[in-house]
Amino acid sequence: MTKPTPLLFIVSSPSGAGKTTLCRRLLAEFGDLRFSVSHTTRKPRATEVDGRDYRFVDEAEFERMVAADMFLEWAFVHGNRYGTASAEVDAAAREGKDLVFDVDFQGARQIKARHPGAVTVFVLPPSLDELKRRLRSRGTESPESLVRRFEAAQAEIAQHGLFDYLLVNDDLSAAYGRLRAVLLAERIRHDRVAHLATDILGI
Ligand code: ADP
Ligand code: 5GP
Repeated sequence: MTKPTPLLFIVSSPSGAGKTTLCRRLLAEFGDLRFSVSHTTRKPRATEVDGRDYRFVDEAEFERMVAADMFLEWAFVHGNRYGTASAEVDAAAREGKDLVFDVDFQGARQIKARHPGAVTVFVLPPSLDELKRRLRSRGTESPESLVRRFEAAQAEIAQHGLFDYLLVNDDLSAAYGRLRAVLLAERIRHDRVAHLATDILGI
């Protein structure tokens, strides 16, 4: 059997639109998915676990990794540095799993440039008022961070043309249904499964 390379499945959105919630559901349902744990210089939130949600590092460590060319991509987002270590893709390939990324549009663009087969999904809030409400109700941001994230949202949304799929996260279950449909369809694109005719039927 030919072992397929991992599907790189990128989910982006302005802060508060619901990408973390949607990605968690995907990971809970599909055991053959791995979450790409990013490095960040941001401080952990009360609910976050180092190594599960992010690898929390200081500026010096992040800089050391940049200099050592250890990142597949990295970017400044809302005043902090965030990056995906190339080792995440290697680990997914070793485990035979597909890889889910929660990265911003700069990360999506960089990953797509290096891996054109990556699939990119942009999650939109149903309105800017609802985006503000969700960001507030999450209760994780300082007043300054709330303003910064909300102000960045419109510029981030303007980048939607970079993405393969646009998903409005209105009703959570309905939005999740659409997200999993994208994953399932992308997994059987011809170029990913062309080997099956030979592997299964010898043709
Ligand atoms: P992001 O990761 O995009 O910043 P989160 O997944 O943290 O966003 O979601 C922000 C807040 O909105 C969370 O409190 C989450 O529970 C809530 N939320 C997510 N999706 C929905 C939805 N469809 N309807 C209502 N609230 C939602
Ligand atoms: P948060 O601080 O809310 O966890 O994330 C802020 C933003 O950083 C989100 O848009 C999230 O997708 C993005 N982000 C998280 N990890 C990475 C990463 O590794 N690379 C890039 N480019 N963005 C990331």
